[in-house]
Amino acid sequence: MSKTHHSKVLIIGSGPAGYTAAIYTARANLKPRLVSGMQPGGQMTVTSDVENYPGFAAPVNGPWLMDQMKLQAEHVGAELINDTIKSIDLNSNPKKAIGDSGDIYTADAVIIATGAQAKWLGIPSEQQYQGKGVSGCATCDGFFYRGKEVFVIGGGNSAVEEALFLTNFATKVTVVHRRDTFRAEKIMQERLFNHPKINVIWNAELDEVTGDGKVVTGVKIKDVNTGAVTDYKTDGVFVAIGHKPATELFKGQVTLDKDGYIVTAPDSTKTNIDGVFAAGDVKDKVFRQAVTAAGMGCMAALEADKYLAALEAAHAPAVKKVVNGNPKP
Ligand code: NDP
Repeated sequence: MSKTHHSKVLIIGSGPAGYTAAIYTARANLKPRLVSGMQPGGQMTVTSDVENYPGFAAPVNGPWLMDQMKLQAEHVGAELINDTIKSIDLNSNPKKAIGDSGDIYTADAVIIATGAQAKWLGIPSEQQYQGKGVSGCATCDGFFYRGKEVFVIGGGNSAVEEALFLTNFATKVTVVHRRDTFRAEKIMQERLFNHPKINVIWNAELDEVTGDGKVVTGVKIKDVNTGAVTDYKTDGVFVAIGHKPATELFKGQVTLDKDGYIVTAPDSTKTNIDGVFAAGDVKDKVFRQAVTAAGMGCMAALEADKYLAALEAAHAPAVKKVVNGNPKP
């Protein structure tokens, strides 16, 4: 039978933003409840070596790091629930979410930390070599390609930015784009065209990632006009065809931008709905880092705490002021 659980704060999502929000709200004695979603730990659970999360001298394993965040949240008193929110009403009072389990979660404040997913091409070899030479994040994995050659797939800001970033490590970067013009900002394009390490293959698609079963050794690139397939040697493939924020659930309630990301007030995690905050990749298409997501989780927790304190003060019974020994009406 389904149960109803009420908490002051409901956190949706279990990446760095969600767990950090849980840690801070728990330590503020708000007894938060975090519903972890379909992929507990989020995108970090598909990252093997994390070298850029501060606090660790040696690289750490992504799933391990997320497990530590989870344990830390539990240790300070957050309640973590394995369920996936299927529907939500953010305008009701209290706010009301329904899980896959049938359980109902009501809360005075909601922190949305559902993250985003890198888009993939969907070819089998891309999946086979993920983490073995195929990556969706140059900032995370570029360092491993020092002195090597890489391919970048895509033609938007992400692809161009990743290609430029990868020149810090790789000896040669080849960008493959399915059309004959980029969608990226002109200034970024100019930087790319002027870079001696980068070359572009236009009107082409990644047909297959090739390898020895353990690591990537090459790619098959298909000309979209002629259908001709050419083999290239490479050490890595960065797929940069965009990200998809997990905001389907909130459509029609929380304001989203044209790409589907949650819009928040400047320097804040506040959304257009009172008591609803958003943190991490679900509202960030620029930085997309675990450490920035964690920072935003902290911000959301502090803002939720402030919101709840104001709510409580507004509902507290009126205390008559005493002036010169006489109660003032
Ligand atoms: P975009 O949607 O802008 O670009 C995706 C690119 O991938 C396009 O060139 C598209 O090709 C290509 N693509 C999509 N699907 C496929 C496919 N199946 N096969 C081959 N190619 C494909 O995504 P971005 O991540 O680049 O950017 C998303 C948003 O984030 C944008 O608004 C961007 O401006 C912003 N952004 C901002 C940054 C910054 O400010 N520093 C950095 C990164 C992103 P086609 O052009 O043919 O559609």
